[in-house]
Formats: sequence, structure tokens, C-alpha cells
Amino acid sequence: MSEKKVLVEVQDLRTYFPIQGGLVRKTVGHVHAVEDVSFRIREQETFGLVGESGCGKSTTGRTLLRLIEPTAGKVFFDGEDLCALSKEEMRKKRRDMQLVFQDPYASLNPRMTVRRLLEEPLTTHFSLSPGELSDRVGWIAGAVGLAPEQLERYPHQFSGGQRQRISIARALVTKPRFVVADEPVSALDVSIQAQILNLLMGLQKELKLSYLFISHDLNVVRHISSRVGVMYLGRLVEIGDTEEVYLRPVHPYTQALLSAIPKRDPSEEKKRIHLTGDVPSPANPPKGCAFHDRCPQCMAVCKEEVPPEVEVGPGHKVRCHLCGNR
Ligand code: SF4
Repeated sequence: MSEKKVLVEVQDLRTYFPIQGGLVRKTVGHVHAVEDVSFRIREQETFGLVGESGCGKSTTGRTLLRLIEPTAGKVFFDGEDLCALSKEEMRKKRRDMQLVFQDPYASLNPRMTVRRLLEEPLTTHFSLSPGELSDRVGWIAGAVGLAPEQLERYPHQFSGGQRQRISIARALVTKPRFVVADEPVSALDVSIQAQILNLLMGLQKELKLSYLFISHDLNVVRHISSRVGVMYLGRLVEIGDTEEVYLRPVHPYTQALLSAIPKRDPSEEKKRIHLTGDVPSPANPPKGCAFHDRCPQCMAVCKEEVPPEVEVGPGHKVRCHLCGNR
């Protein structure tokens, strides 16, 4: 089977936030939230981004939509350099690139009915007649499982799972090609999570969508993603096909993360790797490998040199000095 076309390509992305101090609010340093991150997402593919909270996953997602301006690097969407677009050109492009938030309640205006919430992105991006507007709203409401009478209600009249359906409908009503789903099920009960994940997967098939799926929950990412990237302190330390990374993790950080999740299959049971120490501050990242303070396999070279990216299998890339001689 031929590989699908690359839709999103991120090259050497960096996002730094200034730290201001002193009476005159001078810039005294930078938080390195995203550091030298590169990956590709093909058409109709789900690429999962995992890592502990604060590792830069959400900032990566927002930077590639240019909701946060990158400090350096490039993002291509369908071959077009997004960083070269003006604010107005980027605003138009957003109908093809949408975001689903973790907290649907905070992202939905409580004073708007569901109908108005779904109409708003359409009137921002298209000139539709009242009939076309109503048809499009009816279509997306049906696609996410909302009944017609629910369109006249307000967000507070819905459960958390239903609010996330509204949030997904709002993101998809413009028929985007790419969606960044930022922890879309983290705020939901476990019983509802599966429904929303199945909804996202069903809509992906129906609308031929590509997803960047961000989550700290490794089981959720395994369920939905065909490829995965593992982030630590703003860096992508391992990337590859999901099953390959989950069954044969190479980076010590990925091994530690995966050892901590309950296994579905007892034959996969492995010893838990306990990491010591805290995640270093992204305002003052350690020299060499960013993980060296906590790594059980740290060597002298790790404290001095940033590990290069090494391909350890087809499409499976790792940044660790242990891979240097493979
Ligand atoms: Fe551990 Fe060294 Fe590999 Fe970093 S480069 S993960 S410190 S072995």
C-alpha cells in the first residue's frame, strides 16, 4: 500500500518565552518550552504526543497552529510555509486547522446556545445563506450525536461528555483537514473517555482528518495513534510507530514512562523503572542530554553533549547516546 501524503511537517521548531525581571521588566532569560522539535503527520493519520505535564506538548500544538509564534523553525501545511503567512492569511488558513481543548466548559461561551456556538466559526470563515448555515449546523450536530432540540440549549445544560461533543462539533464544522486535540478526554470520566475517542476515530474516517493527539495518558495515545512522539523538557526524545515504541522502547525516559502504566496483557509485564529527582526547569535546561540528571544509564558523555537523533529501525528515531553505536 502506498504511503499517504505528508500534510503537516514541523522542522526544528523552537518556542521560547521571555522571563522578565527587575524594576524595568528587562528580559533576563528564556523558558525553552519547545526545543528543536521535528515530525511529520500524514493525511488521515493520528500522531500522538506524550510526556509528563509541562514537557511542552501543548505549546508544540499551539505553536504549529501559530496561536503562539515560534521562536525558530518551520511548519509546513500541505507544502505551504505557515510561518511565512501574514496574520490575515493565517486567520483564513485556520478553517483547515482547528483545535479541540481539554476543558470544553472553559472553551464554550456560556451565553451562547449550541446553535450559535456552531454558527460562529462558519460565519467567520464562509459567506453562507441562512439555509446553508442551518444545514451545516444540522449536519455536524448529527455527526457528533447531538439531537436537533439540543441546539437551542446552553453549555451549562450539558454533561462533560456532551460538552466535549459540542466542542468537537465547533472545531469540525468548518470541515478542517487537520485537528490538534489537546488532552481532549483528560477532564472526562473513564466511562465517557471511550465514547469520545470512538467519536474522534469515526469522524476521522468520515471526514478524512489528520490529528495531532496530545495526552499524558499513554494508554489513550496507544489506542488512537498510529505513530507517537515522546517529549521530555521540550525535546522529542523518541518517535516511531506506536506499537514499535510501546513494545520496544529504546530511550530510557520512554522505558520509564511505559513501565509505570498498568499492562493490558500480563505477558507484557515488566519491572517498573523508578525515576529519581525532579524534571529540571526549562528556564535552565541541563547541559548535554536534558534527561541526564534522572537517567539510570547516564554516562560521562551525556553530561556534556546533546545526543544526536539516531534511526534505530524504520521510522523509529531516538535521541540518546546509548544508540550511538547501533
Ligand atoms: Fe540517559 Fe545518556 Fe541516553 Fe540521556 S543520552 S537518556 S542520559 S543514556
